[in-house]
Amino acid sequence: MTASPTDSFERKIDYLRLSVTDKCNLRCTYCMPEDGVPKLDHSEILSYEEVLTLARIAVGMGISKIRITGGEPLVRKDIITLCSKISNIPGIKSLSLTTNGVLLPIFAESLFKAGIRRINVSLDTLNPEKFAAITRHDRFADVWEGILAAEKAGIFPIKLNAVVLRGVNDDEIEDLAGLTISHPYHVRFIEHMPFKAGEGDGHEKKFVAAPEILERLKRVAPLSTCQENQSNGPAVYYRFRDAPGKIGIISPVSDHFCPSCNRLRVTAEGKLRTCLFSTEETDLRGALRNNLPIEAVSEIIRKAIARKPEKHELSSPVFRKCISRQMFSIGG
Ligand code: SAM
Ligand code: SF4
Repeated sequence: MTASPTDSFERKIDYLRLSVTDKCNLRCTYCMPEDGVPKLDHSEILSYEEVLTLARIAVGMGISKIRITGGEPLVRKDIITLCSKISNIPGIKSLSLTTNGVLLPIFAESLFKAGIRRINVSLDTLNPEKFAAITRHDRFADVWEGILAAEKAGIFPIKLNAVVLRGVNDDEIEDLAGLTISHPYHVRFIEHMPFKAGEGDGHEKKFVAAPEILERLKRVAPLSTCQENQSNGPAVYYRFRDAPGKIGIISPVSDHFCPSCNRLRVTAEGKLRTCLFSTEETDLRGALRNNLPIEAVSEIIRKAIARKPEKHELSSPVFRKCISRQMFSIGG
């Protein structure tokens, strides 16, 4: 088994988030414009063969955890076949998926059979009307059905991710957290990130900081910290007494999780980003299409890892204006 690469700050890099599309069947107000975005030409998107080659190269370098994301990954044709091929790469330890859940009622069982064991589902509200307002599509019932279907299929853990938006869904923090009492789900609250700050995305008005979320939760019932998760990923986990599920708080803005960042991202067009908020990208599609040998592509990735920034500069307004992509096109 190859040892995972480390970056210049001694962080072990063992996790890759692979975006398979920038298309989506929802239009969340904080992520995508209502009219969508100019479509990438099919030839600009990595083919499945290319995605698979990249996944093999990454696993060969010691990157043992892969998450499939987008855009909405379940809208890409033949996604099950791709998942199945990636989960069969020798040396891969975990294959997971991030989805908005709309197509989960159709795909949950085949995803499990294809090797997906962990999923993250975006769920900002339990109110169908509010769901329609946030996502601009009336699909709450499908998403809820999909979550239940994933549980039935044996996928565990199921993490429900809610972006907290002041004046929109912050009144539901307690109800969403309550799901961890009635279900074995991990409900994670995420701070809104200012991807389009330069164009006035209303970040300052919408933003609810993690300490405020935590305070609200503590007023519901005593919360204990879950030690087992502290070193794994950006969420800090808590639990209500005897609850089967956990509550996670992810604070990319108010508190850097950069010191423990173990991840790389590849966009649907094959651009490698070593930081979610990178202003730098490395083109892997060109390397693949020029038929560079595996070792040469690995070397390009290693060099990019060596340049992985120590931390993001989200608190700097100048830096915010440089952010060139939104989540759907990075791969959330
Ligand atoms: N379509 C899938 C989904 O919604 O789960 C996967 C891609 S989506 C871009 C991944 C995650 O990014 C979602 O949980 C979404 O809520 C989050 N996201 C998008 N824009 C965000 C923003 N401005 N701030 C915080 N989270 C954001
Ligand atoms: Fe689509 Fe996910 Fe972005 Fe919502 S958050 S618009 S579901 S990519």
